[in-house]
This record gives sequence, structure tokens and C-alpha cells, in this order.
Amino acid sequence: MSHTIAEYIWIDGHEPTKGLRSKAKIITGPVNRLEDLPDWGFDGSSTEQAEGHASDCRLKPVRFVRDPFRGGDHVLVMCEVFTEDGRVHPSNTRARLREVSSAYADHEPWFGIEQEYTLFQDGRPLGWPEHGYPGPQGPYYCAVGARNIYGRELVEAHLQACLDAGLRIAGINAEVMPSQWEFQVGPLGPLDAGDELWLARWMLHRLGEELDIEVSLSPKPVKGDWNGAGAHTNFSTKAMRAPGGIRVIEEACQKLGRTHEAHIKAYGYRNGDRLTGKHETCDIHTFRYGASDRGASIRIPIATTDAQAGYLEDRRPAANMDPYLVARAIIETTCGNGFIA
Ligand code: ADP
Ligand code: MN
Ligand code: MN
Ligand code: MN
Repeated sequence: MSHTIAEYIWIDGHEPTKGLRSKAKIITGPVNRLEDLPDWGFDGSSTEQAEGHASDCRLKPVRFVRDPFRGGDHVLVMCEVFTEDGRVHPSNTRARLREVSSAYADHEPWFGIEQEYTLFQDGRPLGWPEHGYPGPQGPYYCAVGARNIYGRELVEAHLQACLDAGLRIAGINAEVMPSQWEFQVGPLGPLDAGDELWLARWMLHRLGEELDIEVSLSPKPVKGDWNGAGAHTNFSTKAMRAPGGIRVIEEACQKLGRTHEAHIKAYGYRNGDRLTGKHETCDIHTFRYGASDRGASIRIPIATTDAQAGYLEDRRPAANMDPYLVARAIIETTCGNGFIA
């Protein structure tokens, strides 16, 4: 009898920033549909998800992809977490997004997320000198060459793993700070964008084990005159993408300006260390939007201005944000009448 190894992946209850957990289940036979993957459980007292006396939590598979690590027909399975008595666990931000996503389905929202991250080894950014610092920022962004690039082996292996898994990866690039990188997912609907970002993050951490490289999603991994790490969230609706959609995009920007503080609360822990106004994107207390303005909170990309339709880029989310929460905030504010965390 054939068997499939299914790596069940879920988001834990760690505060202020949730982490990823996983464990493997052997399934007898092939996995072709979600229904081939049974619900499972785990010990919530070890993941900061136990409530009261009942420490068992339930895992419900919601999405599966090919497992590029084990290969063959093995799968990675994204799960939602429920309590022992079957309620949505408070740490489960995907459940709320599911509701909002179906309530606003007629807007056909799309998300494209740019995940920035920083590689570490031996307690400092990969390839940085043991004492002192590398040369100042300038030559590293989208660079080539051994003096400017650190960790490409991991980055390339991650790109290939995402493609092998069947994720909608849009691209990769080296970032402004040496040993900082970015990958993008999307455009995808809100649940798929969140699922694929979390799965891609899991694969990045998993690959880091093999090369003994730690992946950090800290918004400000190195203090001082070094760029922070964000997760720019690109967003459009059907009306924004249609001819003349620029008008709808501008309305959305105005709405986002009115809920700035609520959004900042949902956009990642210690984002204020990154949004100082000194390294692209304005400071955390200021909201501004503008065409091609990388110093703004929201940028309207040049292609959107040219076509007078397209999408907007919310530059505020930090690298450690929860894409389920960010997507819900953006949909509720721009398609509805505001957002409460
Ligand atoms: P930047 O110039 O800001 O670095 P990137 O090329 O890194 O931009 O990322 C652009 C992102 O925008 C990608 O994730 C892509 O999937 C996304 N995107 C493209 N078109 C749309 C759209 N119509 N709606 C939402 N996201 C989009
Ligand atoms: Mn980018
Ligand atoms: Mn970037
Ligand atoms: Mn960007």
C-alpha cells in the first residue's frame, strides 16, 4: 500500500509575533483532494494555544501543496487551528479573513506581497565581519558579485522550492542592506495570498536548517543606518483594475488615511523601529499617498498611473506581519467602512 507523508503546518499562539509549527502524518494512500487529509490535533500547552484545562487543539487542513523537501507525492498542508470544543481558536486569524473574503467576494480582491527578510549566522547578518560593519548601503540592492551578495545559495534554493511546490511566486531580489533579500507572492485572492506567504516562509526557515542560516523577519534587524525589512502589500479590486480604476484607487487611499492607526496596530510588532521616515516610507505617525512615491505610506505604481487603472502598494506592513490580518484590514477599510483589529 502506498503512503503519503503530510507535513501539517500551523500558526502558533506566540505573542506579539506568531510563529510556525509543523509535524508529519503518514496517510495511507494518495492525497488528491483536501478530503483525503483528516483533521488532526496537537498539544496547545506547548504552543501558547492552550485555553483553560483543555490543552488539545484541533488542526483542520485548508490547503495543500507538493512537498519539495520530501519530493514524490508528499505534501505540505496549511491548517487552521480550532479549540477542543470546535470553536475558532483566538490565534486563528484566517477564520475571520474567510468570512470577510466571502462577504466581499464580488469586489474580487487581489494581493501581491513582497516579503523582505534577513539572513543570520553566528549571531550576525550572514557574511558580515565579526567586528565592525560592512561598507555603507548603496551597492547591495539587486547586486551581483561575492563582495556584495551573501546567501544566494539559500535564496535560489527557496525560489526553486516554491516553484516546485506550485506556489505563485512573482520574483526575488537582493535588498538594500547586505544579506537582506525579498521574494514576492501573488497576485492572488486574500486566502491564497496568506496561505502561500505562510507556506513560503515555512520553506525558507526549513531550508535555513540545511545551511545553518537563521531567517529573521524582524522589521529592524540591525540598528542604525541600515534598512528595515517590510512586507509591502499590493492590492487591487476588480473596479481598480477596470478602465478608469485610478479613481477607485484614490478613494481607497483616502479611506486608508482615515484608519491609519488601526492598520498600524495590525501591521507587525515594533514596526516603529523601521518606519522612522529615514529609510524609505514615511514615519509611523504620518500617512501620505502618492504616485511613484517610495517615501509615502501608499504608493501608486507608475504602471498604474500610466494605465489609469491597476493597483496600490501599501508600504507600511512590517516583514513580521500576519498576511491574514493585513488582508482583512485592507479589504474592510477599502471595500467596507473601516477596520477594527
Ligand atoms: P516593487 O517595485 O515595489 O519592488 P515588486 O515587483 O517587488 O514591486 O512587487 C510587486 C507585487 O505586486 C508582486 O507581488 C505582484 O504580484 C503584485 N501585483 C501585481 N499586479 C497586481 C494587482 N493588480 N493587484 C495586486 N497585486 C499586484
Ligand atoms: Mn519589491
Ligand atoms: Mn523591497
Ligand atoms: Mn515594494
